[in-house]
Amino acid sequence: MLRVEAAQADLLSVLDDLKQIQTRLSDENKKLIADQESLSRDLADLQAERNATISPVDTVILKTYETLRKQRRGLAVAEVSENACRACGTTLNAALQQSARHATELVYCPSCGRILYAG
Ligand SMILES: [Zn+2]
Repeated sequence: MLRVEAAQADLLSVLDDLKQIQTRLSDENKKLIADQESLSRDLADLQAERNATISPVDTVILKTYETLRKQRRGLAVAEVSENACRACGTTLNAALQQSARHATELVYCPSCGRILYAG
């Protein structure tokens, strides 16, 4: 009889643990669903912002940018910082830096091929 009572007590304890775990999982699931909804809204906002930003950009330049972005692991543009390409670290000569600063056409890093810009 004692073994049956002990087994029942164990069963109740396990069922209590299971209920706590189910409650915790349910709470975490609700939080993840809320996070997913928030991230989906952010993504839609960012996509709309991106579309508005790229609409005035020349289609040839945009295609070049998109191609470079795919080839260069998501980073198509590099800042000129301390006389070098910030993406690859290659030192840039003065003429290239000047072109990046005042260019009317795209200027590319001679080493990594990314589009250079200088503020
Ligand atoms: Zn570079």
